[in-house]
Amino acid sequence: MTTEILDVAKIRTDFPILGRSMNGKPLAFLDSAASSQKPNQVVSAITNYYQNHHANVHRGMYTLAAEATELFENTRTKIAQFIGADSTKEIIFTRNATEAINLVAYTWGETNLKAGDEILISVMEHHANLVPWVRVCEKTGATLKTIPIDSDGRLDLSSLDTLLTAKTKLVALSRMSNVLGTINDVAPIFAAAKKLGAVTLVDAAQSAPHIATDVKKLNCDFLVLSAHKMLGPTGVGILYGREELLNAMPPFLAGGEMIDQVTFEKVTYNELPHKFEAGTPDIAGVVAFSAAIDYLNNLGMDAVQRHEHEITSYALAKLGELPWLTIYGPRDSKNRGAAVSFTVEGIHPHDVSQFLDSAGIAVRAGHHCAQPLMKALGTDATTRASFYIYNTNEEVDRLCKALIDLRSFFKL
Ligand code: PMP
Repeated sequence: MTTEILDVAKIRTDFPILGRSMNGKPLAFLDSAASSQKPNQVVSAITNYYQNHHANVHRGMYTLAAEATELFENTRTKIAQFIGADSTKEIIFTRNATEAINLVAYTWGETNLKAGDEILISVMEHHANLVPWVRVCEKTGATLKTIPIDSDGRLDLSSLDTLLTAKTKLVALSRMSNVLGTINDVAPIFAAAKKLGAVTLVDAAQSAPHIATDVKKLNCDFLVLSAHKMLGPTGVGILYGREELLNAMPPFLAGGEMIDQVTFEKVTYNELPHKFEAGTPDIAGVVAFSAAIDYLNNLGMDAVQRHEHEITSYALAKLGELPWLTIYGPRDSKNRGAAVSFTVEGIHPHDVSQFLDSAGIAVRAGHHCAQPLMKALGTDATTRASFYIYNTNEEVDRLCKALIDLRSFFKL
């Protein structure tokens, strides 16, 4: 096992699911970019919460409700520290990264954009950071512009000067591509955008699980992430927004909790962050997200990144030896995350994925919610292997061996 940087053998004992067999073979889970597995610590936090602390948050005058509220708010504090935010007022709980981007599109977008304005994204965006902007453009008359990619799957910034102008009101970029694995150096692009008065949003859904996140260093006004990709439960996402911007934005969903005074004629709204948190949240999920952040902090994000860099370098080298395999995205593991997309000559990605499943290897195949990127790559689908703290070079070897077996099976 690759144990030089992280004690992977020990880590794996925290994830009982990794001990399962699939189709008679040991499970090799290579799909963490879609959703990571959860350590016992996170599962126990959910159970412990329901067994000992559950009550609705923010409303009760009794001790149990205060306990639940404290646990819930502790996560907010932990997240603020994890991403370098100034205040817990800047941390909004949503259901996922997608909802967080929609919140910005519906509130900031619809209030601030008009015909003639431009939004700048990139060709490699996940639909979550693309479809909300297409919709807001349809509604406001603003125009969507895209930064292209080069042949290595990195942002091609050669035309940035013409793409980024005084008309640009928002620049929304992913820090790491879920398909190509490319890590985008968004900070200088955002710095240039801010000079022109644009607002900046970083989609950190793929990067936050793998690399240290600092909203100040990233130069962003908004940042979104999903707990389920970083060892946490499903059903919890984060929107970070600079306080000044969040204060100026209208609410998103309306109902209980987000209000101050209500009459039939007029409603005034709660303070941040509650103004954007209507209704009962996923309390257990938020509470358990804290255990996921603790887990990552205990490993150290630098160690997490170094482990993944090692395994990704190994995968790129080993997969690169297979002449009938096309790898998409940077071939150099520098500034590259742990998602590797590829196609196998003569075999559809869905068949590749099914065959790998029969060998106990879980990978994803399809357009990966990035249809415009697929078009730019000249394909309609890829197979993607993605790695996390619990994966090993041995699993990469199994992947390569199964791909060779696949070619024989198809008599290619
Ligand atoms: N952005 C990127 C880059 C992603 O990879 C994903 C998830 N695949 C999302 C956004 C959306 O995350 P969620 O489905 O948790 O909202």
